[in-house]
Amino acid sequence: MLIGVPKEIKNHEYRVGLTPSGVRELVAAGHKVIVQSQAGLAIGFTDEHYLQAGAGIAARADEVFAQAEMIIKVKEPQPVECRMLRPGQLLFTYLHLAPDPEQTRLLLESGAVAIAYETVTDERGGLPLLAPMSEVAGRMAIQAGAHALEKAQGGRGVLLGGVPGVAPARVVVIGGGVVGLNAARMAMGLGADVTILDKSLARLKEIDMVFGGRIKTLMSNAANIEDSIREADVIVGAVLIPGAAAPKLVSRAMLKHLKPGAVLVDVAIDQGGCFETSRATTHQDPTYIVDGIVHYCVANMPGGVARTATMALTNATLPYALELAGKGWVQAVTDNEHLRHGLNVCRGKVTHAAVAQALGYDY
Ligand code: NAD
Repeated sequence: MLIGVPKEIKNHEYRVGLTPSGVRELVAAGHKVIVQSQAGLAIGFTDEHYLQAGAGIAARADEVFAQAEMIIKVKEPQPVECRMLRPGQLLFTYLHLAPDPEQTRLLLESGAVAIAYETVTDERGGLPLLAPMSEVAGRMAIQAGAHALEKAQGGRGVLLGGVPGVAPARVVVIGGGVVGLNAARMAMGLGADVTILDKSLARLKEIDMVFGGRIKTLMSNAANIEDSIREADVIVGAVLIPGAAAPKLVSRAMLKHLKPGAVLVDVAIDQGGCFETSRATTHQDPTYIVDGIVHYCVANMPGGVARTATMALTNATLPYALELAGKGWVQAVTDNEHLRHGLNVCRGKVTHAAVAQALGYDY
C-alpha cells in the first residue's frame, strides 16, 4: 500500500504521523511511504532520516494526499486537508469528532474512510492509542508542577524532593488512571510524598499492589479530597468519566484553604477540567494565578514534548498501520473488532455510535 505522511498544519503542532523507524518497518513489510518535506524537522527527524528509512519525499501536502492510499497523521484534518481527501481513501489519525460538526461534515463529503485513534479499543477495554498521550501528560504534570512551585512562577518556593533534613513536597493526584499513575510514579521518583485518590476501589487496590505501599491511596470523596488538598503543594487533576465532562472536584471556595502558592495541574482540562477555576492555557502561557494558587491547564500537554510524544504514538499506532496496510481496511476491520471500533466515518456515513448520537446522524 502507498502510505502518505503530511506535515501537521495545526498551530504549534510539531508531532508527525510516523517516525523514521516506523517508516522503516512499513517499507520492510513491502509498503511504500511518502513523507512531506520537513514534516518532522522541528523535532529532529530530517528528510534525510526519512529517505534513509526508505520513504520518498514530496514537496507539498497536496502531492501526498493525491498519491497515498492511506494518510497517517496526528491531529484531526483541518478543512483544507479534508478537501484533499478523496472517496475511498483511508485516513488514520486522532479525530475527536463528537464536538466537531464541521470536520464531520467535511469528512462525510470527502467520501473517505476515517479511523480515529481515540476510539480504537483493546481486549482489556482500554484505549491503546490514547494511552501513550496520557502517559506523556501524566509524567509531564509533575515536571510542570515542580516548575510552577518555584517562587518566580508564583509558587511556594518548595523543592519536590526536599533535601536531607527538609521534608519533601506533598503531591496529591486525583484520579488513578493512566495519567494519575504516571504522575504518581514521576512524583515518587523525585522523592515527593504522594497520595492518589480514585473512586474505584479496585483501582486503588491495584495501585497499592504496584507501589507496595510507597504511595498512599485514598477513596475519592468530598471529605478526603478536602483534607488531602489542604496539606498539598501540588495537586494533579487526572479524572476521566468516559464521554462526559470532568466533574468539578475542587471549588473556588476551597482555594482559600490551600497553602498559598500551591499548584493545581489540571490534566483533565481537555474534558473541561476538574477544578472550578480551571481554564485552558497554552504552552506559550501555561499558568495563571487565582486566589494565590498557581494553575497549569495546558490542553495539549504532549505537544510540548513533541519528539517523545511522536515516538510514543508511532510505537502504539504502527501495529494497526501494518494491519491496515497489509490487509486493506475492509479485511482489517472485519478481522479485528478493536480496529473496527476506530471506524468513525466510512464513505459518506458516520459509523461510530457515540459520534452519530452526539451530532444527530443516523447510525
Ligand atoms: P483513565 O480512564 O485512565 O483514568 C481516569 C481515572 O479517573 C479512573 O481511574 C477513574 O476511576 C478516575 N475517576 C473518575 N471519577 C473520579 C473522581 N470523581 N475522583 C477520583 N477519580 C475519579 O483516563 P486517563 O487516560 O488517565 O485520562 C485522564 C484525563 O486526562 C482525561 O480527561 C484525559 O482526556 C486527560 N488528558 C489530558 C491531556 C492533556 O494534554 N491535557 C493529555 C492526555 C490525557
